[in-house]
Amino acid sequence: MTLRCDVAVVGGSLAGSAAAGALARDGVDVVVIEKARFPRAKICGEFLSYEALPALERLGALAAVRGAGAETISRFTVVRPDGRAVEAPLASPVLSISRERLDTIVARAAEGVGARFLFGSPVLALEGGLGKGFRLEGPDLAVEARVVIGAWGRYAPLDGKLGRPFFGRPATLFGFKKHLSGESARLAGRAVLHVFPGGYLGLSRVEGGAVNLAALASPALAKEAHHDFDLLLGGLRERSPALARDLDGLVPEPGPVLLSEPVHLGAHGAIAHDVLLAGDAAGVLDPYTGAGMATALLTGEAAGEPVAAFLQGRLSAAALREAHARRHREIAGARFFWSRVFRPIFGGGGPPRSPGSPRDGREAPPRGAERINRASSCPPAGTFCPPPACAHASSGRAPS
Ligand SMILES: Cc1cc2nc3c(=O)[nH]c(=O)nc-3n(C[C@H](O)[C@H](O)[C@H](O)COP(=O)(O)OP(=O)(O)OC[C@H]3O[C@@H](n4cnc5c(N)ncnc54)[C@H](O)[C@@H]3O)c2cc1C
Repeated sequence: MTLRCDVAVVGGSLAGSAAAGALARDGVDVVVIEKARFPRAKICGEFLSYEALPALERLGALAAVRGAGAETISRFTVVRPDGRAVEAPLASPVLSISRERLDTIVARAAEGVGARFLFGSPVLALEGGLGKGFRLEGPDLAVEARVVIGAWGRYAPLDGKLGRPFFGRPATLFGFKKHLSGESARLAGRAVLHVFPGGYLGLSRVEGGAVNLAALASPALAKEAHHDFDLLLGGLRERSPALARDLDGLVPEPGPVLLSEPVHLGAHGAIAHDVLLAGDAAGVLDPYTGAGMATALLTGEAAGEPVAAFLQGRLSAAALREAHARRHREIAGARFFWSRVFRPIFGGGGPPRSPGSPRDGREAPPRGAERINRASSCPPAGTFCPPPACAHASSGRAPS
């Protein structure tokens, strides 16, 4: 049987649920197709930057996130490879919560305002356009929709089917993550980023006092983590007394280490073959910024209004494409710029390209960059504040 709706959203995580919530609130018939069954774990630092909080509030999910016991984070530390550390207070306290909890809460909030969710349903094929509508297919699924929002994350077979250039390119980076339990009091209220040759590793407490360890690392390091996590941690501990102190008394929780798909950093375009993209599907911010989840929520939410206007006949297909690309650029452009500029500080991945030459829907110019600098002295205005630009940072050894 074929299911018909106004909008099909592929991917029911943060960007997808935010888009679906915004549309459903506007009375749009929206179906979210999500391949996983929630709750499910996800590779992520689980650090919700302060820009995410108003978006969660608008979605009606913030109270539930707080109620689930999210850790309040008010300080961050960056530990350099030589062991020197920069610690600073965050401009305002933020939250840290497991993706098992967060994604479930956010999807429930979108369901609560009328979005329909199909969990356990991978979309395997997608064809059509804004003119004649779309058809999506999966193993037990056929959906027809006038608009499709792609919120399938940083790397999926659908990217290959749509001929997106980054798909299939060798990746220089992978992510991995593991929850640790034990004596975590020293990490209360703090997020710590340890930078080492070949990548970096973040630690922060989530609900219930567990510690989330997430890293972005070279393929070799990521593979090592997957095959023998204890050995990898042992090696990193030996090389970094500061990390050894942070990990003291913590042990990996049972279960496998999560290893990510390839991570291709950078803006990948907000539209592909008329599919409006949101969140990581439109581009991957360097995780050190701690702004990926906020950007997913904000770009997902921002897709709602122009899509509703298109469905009501107030925007043409061309105007919808233009409005979606512009909104995406306004939200994510400066973030991508800063993410790239400060990348060399956060280990490997090659030197940054010149941050010029913007192209529509691709890397945007640093519009508002001066404003961000004036306003916060911490580009990007998210979380882990790159040391050289941070006026209020203090330098010293890593706190134990
Ligand atoms: C190592 C690492 C650490 C990070 N740390 C942080 C951090 O501390 N703070 C932060 O803000 N961000 C962090 N990020 C980034 C953050 O995880 C992402 O920006 C965020 O998850 C993007 O959300 P999304 O909704 O766009 O995509 P995702 O969360 O990736 O969700 C995509 C969804 O689409 C579904 N899907 C995929 N393909 C299909 C299909 N064909 N059919 C149906 N469903 C499909 C998936 O199952 C998934 O649920 C980190 C990333 C990495 C790699």
